[in-house]
Amino acid sequence: MNPYTVIHEIKRIYEAQVGSRAHYKQKDARWRQDILRKLAQEIDRNQDKVINALAKDFRKSAVEAEVTELMPVQMELKEAIRKLPQWMKDRSVKRSWKLFSIKPYLHYEPKGNSLIITPWNYPFQLPMSHLIASIAAGNTIMLKLSEFSPHINAVIRIIVQAVFEEEQVFIVEGAKEETTFLLGLRFDQIHFTGSPSVGKIVMQAAGKFLSDITLELGGKSPAIVGPKVHLQEVIRNIIWAKFVNAGQTCIAPDYLLIDIAYQDKVAQLFKTEIRRAFGDQPELSPDFARIINDKQFDRLVQALTEAVEEGATTWVGGDVRAEERFIAPTVITDLKPTTKLLQEEIFGPILPVVFYSSIEEALQIIQEKEKPLALYVFSRQQSFVDQVIKHTSSGSVCVNDAMVQVMHPYLPFGGVNNSGIGQSFGWYGFRAFSHERAVADVKLMPLSKFFWFPYTDKTKRMLR
Ligand code: NAD
Repeated sequence: MNPYTVIHEIKRIYEAQVGSRAHYKQKDARWRQDILRKLAQEIDRNQDKVINALAKDFRKSAVEAEVTELMPVQMELKEAIRKLPQWMKDRSVKRSWKLFSIKPYLHYEPKGNSLIITPWNYPFQLPMSHLIASIAAGNTIMLKLSEFSPHINAVIRIIVQAVFEEEQVFIVEGAKEETTFLLGLRFDQIHFTGSPSVGKIVMQAAGKFLSDITLELGGKSPAIVGPKVHLQEVIRNIIWAKFVNAGQTCIAPDYLLIDIAYQDKVAQLFKTEIRRAFGDQPELSPDFARIINDKQFDRLVQALTEAVEEGATTWVGGDVRAEERFIAPTVITDLKPTTKLLQEEIFGPILPVVFYSSIEEALQIIQEKEKPLALYVFSRQQSFVDQVIKHTSSGSVCVNDAMVQVMHPYLPFGGVNNSGIGQSFGWYGFRAFSHERAVADVKLMPLSKFFWFPYTDKTKRMLR
């Protein structure tokens, strides 16, 4: 039996959504808040199912499922329900004394019909968060889930079907064929989360109808450790951020750049702290997830093997077990700059460590690569932090911690160029799914009273 949504069904619902888009556009704040409340209740009712499904898909621990999947969605819902009337309100902008008769403001209107495409690594949090933003903005939604997380997809379907009519929200399950079909349709907004290579395909498809687009992509996010740090604390931060979800996190520190001054201590610290976190046999730890599928597992093992064959030194880990798609938390150094682990996004539990002798050398390594999604800088020396921020670019920066930037409710989340276009979550998510319409409301005299043919010297003087 085909586990994916059949194409003629996608087509039928797409047409129904196009027909009902004007209807949902009219819904006021109270109606949208009510449906979001219903969604919150349905999620609460299905919490255990969410946790169990994530364990089945990639052995995600119950605590991680709560902290990184359920909690952010509940926070996103709370914020949207509370702030929606304020978000939807027209916003005044500064008046211009030259154009004194105009009352200028911004009006937020739904874009219309939206397509949301999501990956497998946070397969509950990402689809639900972007769905919430699009509902808050007043759109219809085709929500395409990843083909690699079937268990959580089934729970999302239960939740969505209990809350929404399919003319408003429809779940599409499928892989390349189904996504390609969707991308051939006309949408007012396409929101894509995934790899930069598929992001380019999505952007090209959006060009056909000039659909609005948000791209949440990936990249090699560096962590750079400079002077004046509590080294043990920093290493623990990096271990947590790197090995949560077994490294399958878009903003995980991809590689570590560390001052050569720490050379004597750092290997031992990684060994001690990783043992403390996952024990002597991390394969038995209930807190360590598995790699999502064989394709990703083979890719990671190949990159690791290549590095080892080239002479790299494994400080910690390196063990793999194909039958359960397990890769131990691994820290590796002495890598060739051309090796895959230093060239391609890792997206798994392998941390390459590169020592640098001067800040210029470290900055050059970052600058040579595409602009990453996140950058982590650890140092209590402000001039070092400032220099790193000034001479690099990334979607976000986090100073002296890792990953917390995405948890902050009032910071936008997004990449830059190769790591993404546009912003998501909270107010920024609502804005991504809304059209910010400029309104010039002429309260007094129209401009033509002053500016009229034939032009004379007096007209020119009026405009100066
Ligand atoms: P992916 O790009 O392979 O897939 C993403 C989505 O695109 C899936 O729904 C998939 O079915 C679809 N897809 C795949 N190939 C396609 C094709 N050729 N044509 C049309 N659609 C296609 O990404 P992934 O492996 O699911 O996720 C990992 C990537 O996502 C990493 O690069 C990671 O950094 C990134 N990511 C980014 C964020 C963010 O918010 N910026 C969050 C999570 C993951």
